Amino acid sequence: MHTERKPFQAEVRRLLDLVIHSLYTHREIFLRELISNASDAIDRARFEALTHQDRLPASGDDWKIEIIPNRTDRTLTVRDNGIGMTAEELDLNLGTLAGSGTRRFFEALSSGAESSRAPQLIGQFGVGFYSVFLVADRVTVVTRRAGSDKAWRWESDGGGEYTVSEAQRSGAGTDVMLHLREGMDEFLDYWKIREIVRRYSDYIQFPIVLDGRTINSRKAIWRKKKSEVQEEEYREFYRHLTHDPFPPLQTIHFAAEGTTEFQALLYIPTRPPPDLWLPNRDRTPGLQLYVRNVFITDACQALIPPYLRFLRGVVESSDLPLNISRETLQDDAMVRKIRSNLVNRTLTVLKEMKDKEPEKYRSFFREFGAVLKEGVMGDPDAKDRLMELLLFATTAGDEPTDLRTVIGRMKPGQTAIYYLVAENEITARHSPLLEGFRARGLEVLLLTDPVDAWLEGFLERYQDHPFQAIHRGEIEWPKDLEMPATEQNASPEQPITDEDLKMLTQALQTALSDWVKEVRPSRRLTESPCCLVFDREDPTPGMERVLKALRQETPTVRRIFEIHPDHPVIRMLGAIRRRNPEDPRFKEMAEILLGQAMLAEGMAPPNPARFAKLLADLMGQMQPVG
Ligand code: ADP
Repeated sequence: MHTERKPFQAEVRRLLDLVIHSLYTHREIFLRELISNASDAIDRARFEALTHQDRLPASGDDWKIEIIPNRTDRTLTVRDNGIGMTAEELDLNLGTLAGSGTRRFFEALSSGAESSRAPQLIGQFGVGFYSVFLVADRVTVVTRRAGSDKAWRWESDGGGEYTVSEAQRSGAGTDVMLHLREGMDEFLDYWKIREIVRRYSDYIQFPIVLDGRTINSRKAIWRKKKSEVQEEEYREFYRHLTHDPFPPLQTIHFAAEGTTEFQALLYIPTRPPPDLWLPNRDRTPGLQLYVRNVFITDACQALIPPYLRFLRGVVESSDLPLNISRETLQDDAMVRKIRSNLVNRTLTVLKEMKDKEPEKYRSFFREFGAVLKEGVMGDPDAKDRLMELLLFATTAGDEPTDLRTVIGRMKPGQTAIYYLVAENEITARHSPLLEGFRARGLEVLLLTDPVDAWLEGFLERYQDHPFQAIHRGEIEWPKDLEMPATEQNASPEQPITDEDLKMLTQALQTALSDWVKEVRPSRRLTESPCCLVFDREDPTPGMERVLKALRQETPTVRRIFEIHPDHPVIRMLGAIRRRNPEDPRFKEMAEILLGQAMLAEGMAPPNPARFAKLLADLMGQMQPVG
């Protein structure tokens, strides 16, 4: 018979070494990996059998995973009657790293930050098929794809190569036979195997049979009482469900009773799942749904709103009809009830986390806050509760803060919640727009997430407090905090006259008319000579970018240019103008001022090359001092 000899993909070789070295003390996990693969394979076969009767297990047989120790030959076989593999799939799945847990493990290990945590993480990782070489010096896989009559044998000693040849197998499924290394005989022992299975794979819903006995309880973990479940079991089940190498941030397990009865086991991941931001929502996994013990779908999006799409987990209900389909799920009244219950529970858990475990909540919000914000914008019913959950960077400290805290810190006489939308946090923290607020000790929220450009449109009030954008329109200072004119003007020897000021703003308006629609004296600056603000309805740059990406026509926004009349630079500008209205330096300086106001926002000046030249010319006029 023809046997094909093939080299492993180069990375696979490296991984084999890595796995063997770094997991040395966690050898027993190979069994968890094989059982997990077998269980996935049966899931898939069971799914195909819904439409292909011929793919059910042979009559009289059940879906099951068998563990077969051969104490004479010193082999251990894990057998399933699942989906099996074709020759191509064997190549792809076991010869390369396509879609393998091992690859994810490797990625996490080699991303510097995690490597120091490797030892703790290892136990939680799905390291995949290759972990067999921890305990075996040769592995034989015999597999037959459901629906095919051909079987294949794959064999490797974990060296550079593997072979594939035709084989015999009586039904569909896969046998993974490990030829155990010296000193690994413990893995042939009934009690040892049983202990490992109980520890890592108890929840697997198919029977795991050893020496004629089913050794896992098979009790679906979500049907158990909370008090019956160990933290480690929750974690294992999460890993099984998601293939996420990191343990979940939070587990939410509860049973609802009363008008709707269901059990839910939800997880909030620590890291965003890779599909979180895929544009096509249809590809987000959603939750798994079971109805009376029967698996219905693993992509039930009807159960959670899009702004909670980071949730993973399982819901089981006995109130739904078994024949419910993906299409009818969306409009089923019972599903809607379950959904509102799940939303409720999740938001409550998040609120509690925010209040009791602020550190953990901040980490949640860093990863998923932007998703929650979608709910503020898209779901009026949930808006109030979601607003409570938002965290914002703030001028009042380094840690992001919630709105309740902001309100608690308000100055007497202050009613508005002030906020600034900016390109990033550094730009925001140094924005000249903050000067008047800093001088009065008023807190300002700094909104710098890309979605904040849109969120802004939905910030109206929180409790009794209106939001006020400090980058738009004129500022109404709280009465008690109006600064006395003398203090604000930093006592210049000769304050600018109203007439001069009018002349100056008009001249600036003319000089900058291409970019600026109004020039006015500022009530918000205390240190900088000038700043730019938006009109009430103008789109910010973040919004403009999205509109452009959507190919929407956006009129060029002409900004409002505010000046600090008593700033030396502005006074100098006034003086130039007064002395000679034709002096070309006036327009040049005006342009430099505008350019640097734009730079302060993190934007480029309207004509960057000209700006650079004007600045260089100006510097060329400087005199050495001393
Ligand atoms: P992962 O399970 O994380 O994808 P593995 O390295 O464990 O990574 O397995 C690689 C692939 O090999 C699996 O995704 C699956 O397609 C295939 N495979 C492994 N074991 C089996 C099995 N018992 N039956 C069918 N396919 C399997």
